[in-house]
Amino acid sequence: MEHLFKSWQLFSSDIKAAAYVLLLSDYDGTLTPIVGRPDEAFLSAETRDKLRALAKKPAFKVGIISGRPLGEVKAMVGVEGIYYAGNHGLELEGPGLKFINPAAKAAQVEIASLARQFSAKLGSIEGVIVEDKGLSLSVHYRLVKRDEVDLVAEIFHRIASPPLQEGKIRVTSGKKVWEVRPPIDWHKGKAVEKISKEIKAILKCEQLPVIYLGDDTTDEDAFKILHRPQGWSIFVGQDNPSSNADYFLSSTSEVMDFLSRLLELK
Ligand SMILES: [Mg+2]
Repeated sequence: MEHLFKSWQLFSSDIKAAAYVLLLSDYDGTLTPIVGRPDEAFLSAETRDKLRALAKKPAFKVGIISGRPLGEVKAMVGVEGIYYAGNHGLELEGPGLKFINPAAKAAQVEIASLARQFSAKLGSIEGVIVEDKGLSLSVHYRLVKRDEVDLVAEIFHRIASPPLQEGKIRVTSGKKVWEVRPPIDWHKGKAVEKISKEIKAILKCEQLPVIYLGDDTTDEDAFKILHRPQGWSIFVGQDNPSSNADYFLSSTSEVMDFLSRLLELK
């Protein structure tokens, strides 16, 4: 893994040579710093302006891929005319595109029932946030007292185990969060492929290099499929040898510098 700014010459020549470039980014921890409560992860006006400026350039196509529900990430980013993927890509929207994974829709009853059970059993433990996101759900424990985390984990797994063993759900974990998702092979990598395919069809172009920025385990599915010349996978955080990304930026403030530099390239 190499720091992206150290490879800037190579990066900028790739970007300048391409007719179109697709910039896709995760939201939490990538465009905004990680905060205790997910509803406090606000996008700075400066980052929003840069995304808006990039989206206005015909050579750039821009999209945000988040674990949050589609409507929520759209409202938090607030840039029009770009692509949005919510629930790790289970729902997609953008110019010429509207998609909800049908198998995910079918699993909604199970997800809703689990959200109720988690709220009932974990809701009284201080700091637990159960987030029902429609097509998936999250249980956040960042704000839980350290000596209660094991208890929260035990209750979470006790409730999640039966439907997990019956193949009714999938469970993944991220930064102080467990995610319960429908049992289908669909993730941020597939969302990247779907958005890229749609844009290629609209632009009638065969090559569309993708820049992908992300900071967490769910972003690895996107990193995995993006290597030069198809794309640039950029991990946000300290150099992380276990990541599938080829490059890294150290912090969300470096991501902002990156967006400024990118604006100057095309
Ligand atoms: Mg993230």
